[in-house]
Amino acid sequence: MKKEVTKIGVLTSGGDSPGMNACIRAVVRSGLYYNLEVYGIMRGYSGMVENDIIKMESRSVANIIQRGGTILKTSRCKEFYTPEGRQQAYNNLKKLGINGLVIIGGDGSFRGAQIFSNEFDIPCIGLPGTIDKDIAGTDFTIGFDTAVNTAVEAIDKIRDTADAHDRLFIIEVMGRDAGYIALHSGIATGAENILIPEKKTDIDSIIKSLQEKEKRKKLVNLIVVAEGEEFGGVELAKMIKERMPLLETRVCILGHIQRGGTPTCFDRLIASRMGYSAVESLIEGRHNIFVGILNNKMHYIPLDEAVKKKQRISEEWLKIVKILAS
Ligand code: ADP
Repeated sequence: MKKEVTKIGVLTSGGDSPGMNACIRAVVRSGLYYNLEVYGIMRGYSGMVENDIIKMESRSVANIIQRGGTILKTSRCKEFYTPEGRQQAYNNLKKLGINGLVIIGGDGSFRGAQIFSNEFDIPCIGLPGTIDKDIAGTDFTIGFDTAVNTAVEAIDKIRDTADAHDRLFIIEVMGRDAGYIALHSGIATGAENILIPEKKTDIDSIIKSLQEKEKRKKLVNLIVVAEGEEFGGVELAKMIKERMPLLETRVCILGHIQRGGTPTCFDRLIASRMGYSAVESLIEGRHNIFVGILNNKMHYIPLDEAVKKKQRISEEWLKIVKILAS
């Protein structure tokens, strides 16, 4: 028999992503609309373990839809990896009567939620909040679109200076062990080469293509590299320099600017839809799932599937990169 959910907690965990605030707002306001009590848990699972939990009202989430970061803050919580830490977290939730949880975070946060929900009787709903888009079962994750647009804007600017000096620029973008930010931003900025962890890097063919372009007097080249690719931007530049010492090469690591900033309209929209769906899911008795969007429809996927499966890079996309980069 399903238990009625009356008090819910919401938290943001792991790496932050733009759009998390829009998502918190949606969870809080949807919860209040359905007459639930809503609690904000500070600093991810740390707030659960340390009992840093605050009651949320409609005004608590006023004027945040357009802000990057997360008003609830986030953290990586060591204690939550231990059974004692999770027990402590459960005791704190129990004291307040919280009987439903919404976890906005990446695959690590989902792993934590899955373990917690298997141990205790509190239903957990995950919402994919990560710039890396490395969660299987959803076409998009909250923050990815903003991060990619930030990368595109920066790479466009780099192209201007690369063009002025006839240089090769190697631009390293984020994504942990996933290549989506590199792939999307690289295609959108017309990069000559895109290196991602999902595909083995062939240095010989990169050198060959650069030499061939040099012969054609195509000296401006952008290579977009994902941070999780086997060499990374700095090492790659060194290897190219050894083989082509006369080629002017610069490296730019975009870094944390990709995490911040105003979320795009798209991220605000999916964050709002997912936040609402999470509350609806708890009320309807779904548990231990995450909410994804596939073909523009909400989907409810068991948490353990998100944890087991990795997204696949489409072969077609990789073919497009090759054809368009000539
Ligand atoms: P992300 O959610 O962005 O992938 P992390 O991988 O750092 O970020 O995970 C966020 C938090 O989730 C961790 O700091 C930890 O508190 C919790 N977590 C992750 N994996 C586990 C696990 N196997 N068991 C318990 N908690 C976990």
